[in-house]
Amino acid sequence: MRADPIQRAIDEDLVRVLYAQDPIAFFSHWFSIAVLVAIYWPHVPYPSLFIACFVFYALANCAGLALWICNRRFPHLVSPRDWIYLHALRGVLLYSGPGFAVWFAFQSPQTDLPLLHTVMLVTLAAGVFMSNGFDLLNFSTSIPFLLLPSIVLHFGSHTFDRTILAIVLAFFFCAINVYAMSYRKLFRQVVQARIDQQYLAESLAAQKRVAEEASLAKTRFFAAASHDLRQPLHAIGLLAASLNDPAATPAQQAKTAGHIIYNVEALNQLFNQVLDLARLESGVTQVIRLHFRLAELFERVGSQYRPQAAAKGLALRIAPTSMIVYDDPVLLERVLSNLLSNAVRYTERGAIWLGFRRAGRPNGGFIEVRDSGIGIAPEEHERIFEEFYQVENPQRDARQGHGLGLPTVKRLVGLLGSELQLRSAPGRGSVFRFAVQAGDAGSIVASLNDSVAGGAAAQGRRVLCIDDEPSILEGLTSLLARWGCSVRGARDEAEALAALADGFVPDAVLCDYQLAHHRTGAEALSAMRGALGRAGHGHVVTLLITGDMASPELEALALQGIPVLHKPVTPARLRRTLEMLWQQAELDKGRAAGVAVSGEGAAEADPVHSPAAAGFQPTEAGSAAQPATTSSHPPAIR
Ligand code: ADP
Repeated sequence: MRADPIQRAIDEDLVRVLYAQDPIAFFSHWFSIAVLVAIYWPHVPYPSLFIACFVFYALANCAGLALWICNRRFPHLVSPRDWIYLHALRGVLLYSGPGFAVWFAFQSPQTDLPLLHTVMLVTLAAGVFMSNGFDLLNFSTSIPFLLLPSIVLHFGSHTFDRTILAIVLAFFFCAINVYAMSYRKLFRQVVQARIDQQYLAESLAAQKRVAEEASLAKTRFFAAASHDLRQPLHAIGLLAASLNDPAATPAQQAKTAGHIIYNVEALNQLFNQVLDLARLESGVTQVIRLHFRLAELFERVGSQYRPQAAAKGLALRIAPTSMIVYDDPVLLERVLSNLLSNAVRYTERGAIWLGFRRAGRPNGGFIEVRDSGIGIAPEEHERIFEEFYQVENPQRDARQGHGLGLPTVKRLVGLLGSELQLRSAPGRGSVFRFAVQAGDAGSIVASLNDSVAGGAAAQGRRVLCIDDEPSILEGLTSLLARWGCSVRGARDEAEALAALADGFVPDAVLCDYQLAHHRTGAEALSAMRGALGRAGHGHVVTLLITGDMASPELEALALQGIPVLHKPVTPARLRRTLEMLWQQAELDKGRAAGVAVSGEGAAEADPVHSPAAAGFQPTEAGSAAQPATTSSHPPAIR
């Protein structure tokens, strides 16, 4: 806990204990007044001065009680600290009366009066120690007024027994100060322990609330997910049964097959959306920032949604911008695809606007997606970001989406270090916006929309694939062969090393993460790189493919910048990833050569795997080249 709340809690406790003793003190002081007046009564010296002194004492005592009543009635009138100051002031006034009154005893011919008065003062000092000892201020403003005049006057009387009494009193004065010090320390520790306990109890209660809410949310999530998954499955079951109907005509069968395909696509889309969210939650999605022209990204997503917008008679306007941003273009594309898809879906008239605004941000600005659609009521502004929540789809009609788009967008924007903001009202359209960082034109490595040219294409590349699952290996090698690659398949590290020993020098090594014999793809790739490096082929692209969602090893790989694709990997995604890696490797090779020529020494590290080469590395989200589907929702977001 921070120091301030502790100090405040200590002050609050101090106020409680200091004031709690005051009614008792009030009666004790009346008793003290009565005793002192009684012992002085036969020989009151300087009567008017004596009366003034004791009236002052009595008034201070009444003022103390008034302060106590105030504190009881209006505890928040002043801060705890101020109540402590006021109590200390009460102490000064109250204890100076009996403390200074000892002077009257020394003026009296009665020799035992100073002794009697001193006994009274010591009794009062013991009371102060008990009731005010745990506060330095209250203690140190009371005790000296009570005891010091007496000590001084006893010393000043120059008799042996009075001097001894003065010494004893002085010792008593020091002793109670020392005891009060440890009393205060103990008090502080007790309060601190109480506060810590209270804090712990509160944080446990808060964690319990969070866990309960999370469990409720998960229950809702699974209920909605199982409903939405069951619907198409159920339809597929029925349609498949009707395919078997011997009475069905070929035309009816073709129609049924069409429905089956539609439902399979819907199922696939939903699976992908759920997997997407799960990936984002599990933290395996890497953010790979690079400098790029925002206009290129706008054009890219805009072109996907223009046909859908045009089909509804809507204009999709992209505001021209020369802004360079430093962000992850693949994740940003997923965000914009979702927002544009919603904008098209929930707008019947008018236009959709995609643009960038500085909005007063010196280092960046906001990307905005606006529409003139149905808008969202303020009470729905939070709920629409919950999984499977839809404002108007009580029948959970899958054609109206599943309510997963905005939760995904919110998480993606959070992952990119920003916050999704919404401005919307029913009938007045919606504006979704989030901040992006400004980039640097000099650091742009490639255009986002360049089809990977020349050297980076797959045609003629040599690829080594390692997978212990024969069917996957077969599928992968034949896919790469269709792209014009020269492919070698290996079922484990040993076979792969044998291929290298055979003289097969790959341009890329693709490796499954979980291999046979408890070997991991990371270990196999490191062995490959070692062997290739020794043979003088340092610049080889390597890529891991995994079905694991989250593991400490994968997180470590992500930190090292090792490219990882998560299954299921579509051909388009694999191709784009490989092409981007080859393009980056060539750029790095060119740079390294340039540096070597300029005499600064070429970089030895494999550029693709060096964290510094963060430039164009694909993430598992390297599917920027996914084609737009004909459905109203964005293409499966991976
Ligand atoms: P889906 O669009 O699949 O239903 P989303 O999570 O993307 O799921 O959106 C959740 C809800 O938010 C939608 O059901 C819709 O009611 C509302 N919504 C989202 N975007 C817009 C928008 N641009 N205009 C109006 N309503 C919107």
